[in-house]
Amino acid sequence: MQFKEVIGQEEVKHKLVLSAKENRIPHAQLFLGPEGCGKFALALAYAQYILCPNRDEHDSCGVCPSCRQVAKLAHPDLHFVVPNTTNKSIKKDPETALFINEWRNYVLAKQAYVDPVSWYAAIELENKQGYINVRDAATLMRNLSIKSYAGDYKVAILWMAERMNLDAANKMLKLLEEPPEKTVFLLVAEDQELLLVTIRSRAVLVKIPGIETNEVEQALVARKGCDCALAHNAAILSEGNWLKACHYAEEEEDMKYYSQTFQQWMRYCFKASVGELVDFSNNIRGIGRKRQQNLLEYGLHVVRNSLLVNNGLLDKVLLPDDEKLFNVNFAPFVNPNNMIPFVELLEEGIRQIERNGYAPLIFLDISLKLTKLLRIK
Ligand SMILES: [Zn+2]
Repeated sequence: MQFKEVIGQEEVKHKLVLSAKENRIPHAQLFLGPEGCGKFALALAYAQYILCPNRDEHDSCGVCPSCRQVAKLAHPDLHFVVPNTTNKSIKKDPETALFINEWRNYVLAKQAYVDPVSWYAAIELENKQGYINVRDAATLMRNLSIKSYAGDYKVAILWMAERMNLDAANKMLKLLEEPPEKTVFLLVAEDQELLLVTIRSRAVLVKIPGIETNEVEQALVARKGCDCALAHNAAILSEGNWLKACHYAEEEEDMKYYSQTFQQWMRYCFKASVGELVDFSNNIRGIGRKRQQNLLEYGLHVVRNSLLVNNGLLDKVLLPDDEKLFNVNFAPFVNPNNMIPFVELLEEGIRQIERNGYAPLIFLDISLKLTKLLRIK
């Protein structure tokens, strides 16, 4: 992966390139950023850059044997540690090494825009979560003690480093405290609170923001062949998350569905029309759990936007124009006296559906409470 294949993030790329150019690559770095911002893609491009003997001022060459090996995730001096656990084929002592082929295929298929949920699905963890365990740390330690293949840098990428359990973290800490020579650790994480403070304090923070909306938009046109209007709307809704943007672009109909359904629902609530609310709640059963949750999430989005509108920040409202109009009209009904219960109601609904609650009852309950909340001045 070359830097030019990573969407946006020019500032971060510039800093990374500079550190290599000035020969001051920190031995441990924490790539911290929200889902879909491309933090793993950046770590991979940075690893390729560090390992490329023909790199120029901006990027790795992309064609030398080293770059080609990194592109296949099969460079002998590039090591991966990723969350894992037992599944149908690996019944005991799981560790990254046992999943390395799946990992390569997965990353290549996702063009390095990876996320834990789809990774766990790719290795069929079913409902289990993966974690980085002490065997992962021990194997890494062993691999890094061997002399580098090309006689230069060795790079270890720990993806979702916050998934390290305590034993693994303690072992990793030793590695970070006494790193083998010319070794670079790239810890990629979303939630630094879950990392041991001692590990955090040993790594230089590389903060990665969400991707700029216009970069997402351009990438949707260039990579996904989206038409401009769709790319524009999906980019706005993505909030800098490339995975979300792709999801919206692929499910354009869904996007319209959520906005229209939510608008309809709120009209019934305003009218306090119990009959229509009962019908609405019954019909919601047919759309499935995921869409029920998405609809409530969409509602949270509307409440947040209302707050922006009410505070004169209409330009910060990230919505396609037609939905923006609805939000502007809706905003006066959200105020400091009902906003928090409104949010809690929707969040509780999402949780109840997660726990397999009966959707028609959940939606009816929310509806009836909303008819009251929306009247609070
Ligand atoms: Zn190269």
